[in-house]
Amino acid sequence: VKRGGRGGLERFSREINEQAVRRLRLATELRLALRDQQFCLHFQPAIDARTGSICAFEALVRWNHPVDGMISPAEFIPIAEETGVINELGDWVFREAAAALGRWDAAGGARVGVSVNLSARQLLQPDIAMRLAESARAAGIAPRRLTLEITETALMRDPEFAASQVRRLKRRGFPIALDDFGTGYSSLSYLKHFRIDQLKIDRSFVRGLPGDRDDIAITRTIVAMARHLGLAIVAEGVETAAQAAYLRELGCEMLQGFHFSRPLPEAAALACLREDALA
Ligand code: C2E
Ligand code: CA
Ligand code: CA
Ligand code: CA
Repeated sequence: VKRGGRGGLERFSREINEQAVRRLRLATELRLALRDQQFCLHFQPAIDARTGSICAFEALVRWNHPVDGMISPAEFIPIAEETGVINELGDWVFREAAAALGRWDAAGGARVGVSVNLSARQLLQPDIAMRLAESARAAGIAPRRLTLEITETALMRDPEFAASQVRRLKRRGFPIALDDFGTGYSSLSYLKHFRIDQLKIDRSFVRGLPGDRDDIAITRTIVAMARHLGLAIVAEGVETAAQAAYLRELGCEMLQGFHFSRPLPEAAALACLREDALA
């Protein structure tokens, strides 16, 4: 056994190599996974801060790998994005989310909305607005019930074209949410330019509430600005009752996070919707 710095370096390069091999393997397997139906959606509720009832769910994709078990989207979405599989996977996620909404309606659940995450590559597909509108129609769901979540980073990749794509999606009736707000590089003026409907305050700012002075200043500013611009505001990553109470007091309209519920399988989400007693 080698000792000291050199052994450390070898272990380090072996780990890097293992990561690269896994990445390559997952890239190949992603295509087959779609065909073999290894993906499913979980749904995390967003709560109306005033009433405590569920106003929407966010659809979050899960990969149930036959050998590796559950793989996090944080790992495979970037790979799908790089290899282009995201387009096909994203279409599936959208169709499946709309279909779930249809099933909940049929089961007599309250008429909520569903948010679907859209990656940069999907947003930049020229025919995305038309295709999503077609999927919504096929599922019998009004586009205004299907919010599209886009990150600032995705908008920055090609701002001019992204802005025109957002306009197209909005003309089709889809509300647009700006995800992970505050973590990207976009200037605030973009908010007006892009005609966003909803801001999602990133959970890195929620984490320090109600104690951290910087996080307080940032969240207060975002909420105030959203109000001036007429944007709905959602706080993500709410994990404690104290955070929820603070955000409610600030006037944040919707709350989402483990304090209320983790992302749930479809049946459990429906059960929640029927009971509607999360807060
Ligand atoms: P995101 O869009 O910011 O989604 C929120 C993530 O935070 C989810 O992780 C959710 O489970 C987690 N989360 C929710 N509440 C809490 C909380 O209180 N505390 C903490 N620590 N975490 C919380 P998840 O499901 O692992 O997804 C990770 C990311 O993967 C998402 O971040 C999104 O960027 C991406 N993603 C997931 N599904 C899709 C999809 O269908 N399409 C695309 N393009 N991206 C997706
Ligand atoms: Ca999201
Ligand atoms: Ca987010
Ligand atoms: Ca701080």
